[in-house]
Amino acid sequence: MSELKYCQGPDCHTYSTKDRLKGSKDNKTYQTRRRSHMYYGRGNFCDRRCMEDWIAQYIEQGLDHFGRTTQAKHLTEENAWIKDYDWRGNADESHRHFFYNSITKEQRPITREQYEDRNYTLNT
Ligand SMILES: [Zn+2]
Repeated sequence: MSELKYCQGPDCHTYSTKDRLKGSKDNKTYQTRRRSHMYYGRGNFCDRRCMEDWIAQYIEQGLDHFGRTTQAKHLTEENAWIKDYDWRGNADESHRHFFYNSITKEQRPITREQYEDRNYTLNT
């Protein structure tokens, strides 16, 4: 059994849906949704509206904190690597994972672990 966590939407409790109405018979209130798994914002929000509420409230602070883009970024050979794989329907074969450079069209094979590792990149 995985642990229940609360939706991080600042206004989640203000949306009066039936599933948010909780409590004992005479003392029911609309409450922040609590679930073992949520699909939005890397599992932090119960739905798109709650995720967008959070963004609307905190976007400026976030950009100020982590730094704003102040000049154009350029796609070059050095940062054009993307991860991809060829689907293999045969159960005996695993999918072929690779890096693909969208500028040079070069392919380099990688393992499935490297494919799934968010921090593993060839981009500089
Ligand atoms: Zn929510």
